[in-house]
Amino acid sequence: MTDLFDLEHIWHPYTSMLNPLPTFKVKRAYGATIELEDGRILVDGMSSWWCAIHGYNHPELNQAVSDQLQKMAHIMFGGLTHEPAIELGKLLLKITPPSLDKIFYADSGSVSVEVALKMTVQYWTALNQPAKTNFITTRSGYHGDTWNAMSVCDPVTGMHQIFGTSLPNRIFVPAPQSRFDGEWNPQDIQELKQQIEQHHHSIAALIIEPIVQGAGGMRFYHPEYLRQAKALCEQYNLLLIFDEIATGFGRTGKMFAWEHAQVEPDIMCIGKGLTGGYMTLSATLTTKQVAETISRGEAGVFMHGPTFMANPLACAVALRSTQLLVEQDWQANIQRIEKILAEQLTDLAQLDHVADVRVLGAIGVVELTSNVDMKTLQQQFVERGIWVRPFGKLVYVMPPYVIRDDELHYLLAQLIEVVKNMQGVNANVLA
Ligand code: PMP
Repeated sequence: MTDLFDLEHIWHPYTSMLNPLPTFKVKRAYGATIELEDGRILVDGMSSWWCAIHGYNHPELNQAVSDQLQKMAHIMFGGLTHEPAIELGKLLLKITPPSLDKIFYADSGSVSVEVALKMTVQYWTALNQPAKTNFITTRSGYHGDTWNAMSVCDPVTGMHQIFGTSLPNRIFVPAPQSRFDGEWNPQDIQELKQQIEQHHHSIAALIIEPIVQGAGGMRFYHPEYLRQAKALCEQYNLLLIFDEIATGFGRTGKMFAWEHAQVEPDIMCIGKGLTGGYMTLSATLTTKQVAETISRGEAGVFMHGPTFMANPLACAVALRSTQLLVEQDWQANIQRIEKILAEQLTDLAQLDHVADVRVLGAIGVVELTSNVDMKTLQQQFVERGIWVRPFGKLVYVMPPYVIRDDELHYLLAQLIEVVKNMQGVNANVLA
């Protein structure tokens, strides 16, 4: 099944080249379905890591790409502009926080985070506060794999040990503990308050994933945390960056997760679902005030300009994908998925080896009491006709929004069987 060339020569994410995890060769994908080279059909629970919100091979998205392809695949953005970037920008400003007004297009989520971090440093330099160059963030966060994005990822799960002193030292506070659907515990904000009080002279910004901490633990936290964090940022002159790369485009039940708290950031990063999973594109949005302050600084310009900035193909498909989303009753659709996820998954919490089950929007998470064996589990999922990629203690799904009820029921029934059998396997081993 595993392709030999692939196995020997091609690096896959977070894998060894000595003992690579198996890969499954995909022939095509359509709707919420992935078809493997050997003919097996899998129901997709991952949306290709949050991206493929409208599913695969969507006729209208295909059309948007091919229409744009007839005009130009790419054109440099320095000194030139184009309709897809402009029209996408207009639509993005309608659906993002009202205070955001300027858009910087970049190539990937990680790069949009780099851009956001750079913006804040240039901002404070322009305001004659050059000491404000550090960042504060919560543990269990994830912001990407490039250097500075990595530096604000959780220091334990985020590769800090591997890169050691080559990573800049950031200020970390505990991850919010109050659950999204639980009581707010005022203790939650104390460490952030203390650290900001102590270090604000050297801190440019607080960076955080609003409401859902994704790859750092799939945790859903209380909106009050964001309200109090925002107040602290205002009080102590810190910019607030929301990383909505994973949470954006309806995934949590709101168009963007800031809406759960009604807290607007100074800078917001978006990506992933932006192009409906068709190609890589991200954007860093900021306020008029931040953009104009940077522009008034000594440099006079914002110092970033990727080669593929605002790639027209990517902008065209992002525009169509976002139009598709806003044109439909997407909220009702996310609620449909949320209801089924909650109904089906909740009972798993009763198993001894399940620590927690949580659902928000189109995200369903089963947290186990110990780490899973990804290789074995993934194989079992594929054998049962579903695509789910667990990590750490987490087995989770975030299916494409086009998933039908019967497909979602199938996906969850198979997932539940695998999770239940894990208990069986353990019990047998013990016996
Ligand atoms: N921030 C968050 C919250 C993410 O989930 C991710 C991707 N998992 C990134 C940043 C990085 O995005 P990319 O992989 O496109 O660089």
